[in-house]
Amino acid sequence: MEAGRRSSTKPVQSLKPTKTVSVDEDLTKASDALPLPLHLSNAFFFTLFFSAVYFLLSHWREKIRTSTPLSVVTFSEIIAILAFVASFIYLLGFFGIDFVQSLILRPQTEVWNSEDDDEVADVLLRKEDARKVPCGQALDCSLPPLPPPAPIVTVQKVLDEKPVTVLTEEDEEIIKSVVAGTTPSYSLESKLGDCKRAAAIRREALQRLTGKSLEGLPLDGFDYESILGQCCEMPVGYVQIPVGIAGPLLINGREYSVPMATTEGCLVASTNRGCKAIHLSGGATSTLLRDGMTRAPVVRFGTAKRAADLKLYLEDPDNFDTLAVVFNRSSRFGRLQGIKCAIAGKNLYLRFTCTTGDAMGMNMVSKGVQNVLDFLQTDFPDMDVMGISGNFCSDKKPAAVNWIEGRGKSVVCEAIIKGDVVRKVLKTTVESLVELNMLKNLTGSAMAGALGGFNAHASNIVTAVYIATGQDPAQNVESSHCITMMEAVNDGKDLHISVTMPSIEVGTVGGGTQLASQSACLNLLGVKGASKESAGANSRMLAAVVAGAVLAGELSLMSALAAGQLVKSHMKYNRSNKDVSKASS
Ligand code: ADP
Repeated sequence: MEAGRRSSTKPVQSLKPTKTVSVDEDLTKASDALPLPLHLSNAFFFTLFFSAVYFLLSHWREKIRTSTPLSVVTFSEIIAILAFVASFIYLLGFFGIDFVQSLILRPQTEVWNSEDDDEVADVLLRKEDARKVPCGQALDCSLPPLPPPAPIVTVQKVLDEKPVTVLTEEDEEIIKSVVAGTTPSYSLESKLGDCKRAAAIRREALQRLTGKSLEGLPLDGFDYESILGQCCEMPVGYVQIPVGIAGPLLINGREYSVPMATTEGCLVASTNRGCKAIHLSGGATSTLLRDGMTRAPVVRFGTAKRAADLKLYLEDPDNFDTLAVVFNRSSRFGRLQGIKCAIAGKNLYLRFTCTTGDAMGMNMVSKGVQNVLDFLQTDFPDMDVMGISGNFCSDKKPAAVNWIEGRGKSVVCEAIIKGDVVRKVLKTTVESLVELNMLKNLTGSAMAGALGGFNAHASNIVTAVYIATGQDPAQNVESSHCITMMEAVNDGKDLHISVTMPSIEVGTVGGGTQLASQSACLNLLGVKGASKESAGANSRMLAAVVAGAVLAGELSLMSALAAGQLVKSHMKYNRSNKDVSKASS
């Protein structure tokens, strides 16, 4: 009983201390009537109450039996009546007032208790989050039971308790020497042997040198050892990019939750809607057409004739096996597939293509190419190697060679979207999608002289997935080459949509893929690290996911355009009130 009484006042106490203390202090409790422990007071008054009642009833019964008037009251009866009244008041005070208080005070307590409000909001959020399917898809689905909220609390706690780097007096000396130019900033890691400390010192020196604050660019909470010598030099912090999830994306009978790192509002929501349309239509099919990373050195001869001699030598099938053996020595995974040559006068460009297992493969192919160039030097001593990369590769630049020949993974991904789904989910019609695709992605891009840009926004999806999964985001240039085709099928009822992407450059080992966050995103897709079944299976699967996500993105954006929704949805997701007020101020 006491526990119950206490709990009724506790929430007030926790939120409004001043108010509650006074309420608690002013409240004269019935149990204060006797200087006894509460349970003894209660027992005493209970006994008194029932004894008085029993005594009075038995006396009055006796009076009625002997025909004595009830108005004749004896002294013992007066005592019993007083005992009855006293115990009644006590019991009423104990139970009754609390009961009345609980009725009157409870609504007030709830108004005060903002924690309760948060809890309600939390429950609603969890209800939203608990949906098995993406938000668009969940519109017509029932809600599964709520998961326990504990992990959210734990994550928050860990973040709150993150240690903050504190600079020591010794650090102060090093900062001064970096500012003075006596200690080179780049040498801090090797000098200190502590990458985090090096970053903190460099950051502070930079702020002093520039007079500009880096507040807002976090330093703590990142493993600086993990990027040393391979991902980023001279770090001073890290940029945070939110990761959203689109999906499940159903490709080749398997579901994927696609992580997208982006700050572009609408993008994830839109891709998610495309995933839903694909899922409801039975999924997409992705086919790998080619898998080979390229590197093209440029070599120069004294004459064009000598350059042509080497071209003919390299293209002779009889020489291929020897060259492949030399090339393949560079790695367990790099396997030479072919060499394509192009001549410009005395200069020869040799485009080597090789498989690279689960690595994106730039390092691997470069090593193999170096082996071959060294080998060729024996038969062609007059060959000058001008550059290990001569741009015929072609890496991170728009180039027809990638569009036509492919680079990395060449993938075609297709789906038949049911007419019903086009109407209900995409809010448009098959006919208007096909027409818009022809006018925009094909004719419009032709008018613009596009190179591989026969799509609505493939690079949006490619880049977001690349950043989330640790790919090289600069390769979005050629990785986003894509032609989107749409056609009415099944007597015009349904939509056949496909994306053909000849140069998706992805890997699941090497580069940024081993960093903690990126690795977590690869893990979510089930393609983390080297494939245990067969070398290259993970990176090929990742390429299929990229193409599938592009398919979803194309479907959704084209539908939004067709339905005239583009401006409306951007206003909703991309321009928060906060931004607008900031911009106006
Ligand atoms: P890239 O060639 O994409 O730049 P890296 O050279 O950084 O990539 O990473 C490839 C490294 O990973 C190579 O040393 C290679 O031997 C190793 N590796 C381990 N497993 C695999 C695999 N399944 N596929 C490709 N490379 C692998």
